[in-house]
Amino acid sequence: MLPASPDDALAPDWLKEPADPNGLAPGVWPASARRDAEGELELGGVGVAALRARFGTPLYVLDEAEVRAHAARIRGAFDAAAAAHGTKARVYYAGKAFLSTEVARWVTQEGLRVDVCSGGELEVALAAGVKPSRIGFHGNNKSVAELERAVAVGVGTIILDSAIEIERLGAIAERRGTQSHGFRQRVLLRVNSGVHAETHDFLATAHEDQKFGTPLEAAPALAERIREIPSLRLRGLHCHIGSQIFGSTGFAESASRMIELHAALREGGELPLLNLGGGFGIAYTAADDPTPIEELAGAIVEAVARECEVRGIPIPTLAFEPGRAVIGQAGVTLYEVGTTKEVSLGERGERLYVSVDGGMSDNARPALYGSQYSARIASREGTGLPVLARVVGSHCESGDIVVDHEYLPSDVTPGDLLAVPATGAYCHALSSNYNHTPRPAVVAVRDGHARVIVRGETLDDLLSRDAGIAATGPTERTGARTGEGEA
Ligand SMILES: *Cc1c(COP(=O)(O)O)cnc(C)c1O
Repeated sequence: MLPASPDDALAPDWLKEPADPNGLAPGVWPASARRDAEGELELGGVGVAALRARFGTPLYVLDEAEVRAHAARIRGAFDAAAAAHGTKARVYYAGKAFLSTEVARWVTQEGLRVDVCSGGELEVALAAGVKPSRIGFHGNNKSVAELERAVAVGVGTIILDSAIEIERLGAIAERRGTQSHGFRQRVLLRVNSGVHAETHDFLATAHEDQKFGTPLEAAPALAERIREIPSLRLRGLHCHIGSQIFGSTGFAESASRMIELHAALREGGELPLLNLGGGFGIAYTAADDPTPIEELAGAIVEAVARECEVRGIPIPTLAFEPGRAVIGQAGVTLYEVGTTKEVSLGERGERLYVSVDGGMSDNARPALYGSQYSARIASREGTGLPVLARVVGSHCESGDIVVDHEYLPSDVTPGDLLAVPATGAYCHALSSNYNHTPRPAVVAVRDGHARVIVRGETLDDLLSRDAGIAATGPTERTGARTGEGEA
C-alpha cells in the first residue's frame, strides 16, 4: 500500500492533495453530478452502475441540461454585453467540439446558431434541422464540392480564408445566381490578427505563423476583391485567436487591431458584422480558474466599444463562436479499471498506475496537447487515503495517458468505475480506432433517463471495412462496444 505523501516530489505544483479524494469539484463536473447515499456517482439523475449495465464501458455521458444551461448562459452573457453598448450579438456553437443531430437541436433551441468546418459537419447540422441561414461555414481548404453544397442549401455565412477561395466561391455563387436571379452569398473574411492566446498567456506579433486567414495588411485588397464580385456580399471580418483562454486581454488586443481594419474597410462599403471567434476556457481540474463568461463578454464588448468610439464609428453586430465552453463541462467519460500497479521512482516517490479500458482513442487531448484532466472513483466512494496516481489507457503507447496527475483513494481496484469529467469537447470529436478499438457510444442523460445519441461502434463495424474479411453478418465476438441498450 502506498503511503499518502502530501509533499510527493512527483506531484506538479498546481495539483493540491484533496481533503476528500471522492469530492466532486464544482465547476469541473456537471451541476447534476452527485453521490447517492451509497456513494455511487449519479449524472443527470442516472447512476453510473445502471449506465455501465446498459451501455458498457468506456462510455461518453453527456448531460443535456448542462449543455442547454451553458448555451443559454453564454448567449445571455453576450446579448447583455452587446445591449449595454447599444449593439447586438450572435452566438454560434462551434460544432467541431462535438456535433450530433441531438446536440445541434439542443443548442439551436437555446438560441444559438451553428458553425461547421467540413462537409460532414454541415450534413449533421442540416440533418438536425438547423436553418441553413443560421449556419456558418469555416475552413482553410473547403473543397469545390463542399462550397457548392453550402451555396446550394443556403448556408448563411461562408467565412473566406484565402484569395484562391474568394475566386472559387465567387464562381460557384455566380452559377447559382444565374438560376436564382440576384443571388448573393454572404461572406466574412477571416483575418489573422497576429494575436494568439491560450489560457493565461497571449502573444501579439505583426504576423502569426499559422495557416488560417489572411494577414492584417493583406486584408484590404482581398476585401476589395470580394466587393468586386457581384455574387458575393461582404458582411464583415472574422478572427479567432486561440483556445482554452482564461482572460480578456488577448481578445481586447485582437479586437483593437480588428476594429482599426474594420473602420478602414467601412469606407469602401457596408460592413455590419464583426466575428471575434471562440476560445473561451473551461475548468478541467480544480486548479483551473476560467473567467466567468459574463465578465469576459463584458470586457470584450467594452474593448470593441472603446475602439469604435475612438474612431467615431458605430459598433458593428458582434458574433462569437464558443465550442468548448458550451459542451466541455457537460461530458463525463466512464471507464472500468482493469489493473493497478505501483511504480517506485526511488527518492522521487511512488506513482500508482491505474489502467482503464479506453485511452487515447477516446481522448486524444493528453497525448496531443499534454492536456490535464481529473478523475474520481464513480461506482463507490474509495476508503483509502489519497495517493498520487496516473490513469492510463489500454493502447500500445507509453504516451497513452488519460489523467496525468491525480490523487485517488489508495484502494482503487479492478472493477471500479472511474469517471473523468470535462470530456464533452474534443474527445468524441477527436476519437480514433487506434489499435482497432471501436469508438464508445455517446449517451445523453436527463431527469433520470438515459438514451443513446451516437451509437457505439462494434468490432464488426471495424472488421467490415477490411476488404480481406468476409462479411458474415453479426458475430458473437466478445468485447464489442455496442452502447445499444434499449432506452
Ligand atoms: C475551434 C474554433 C472555434 C471554437 O473554439 P473553442 O475553443 O472550442 O471555443 C471557434 N471558431 C473557430 C474559427 C474555430 O476554429
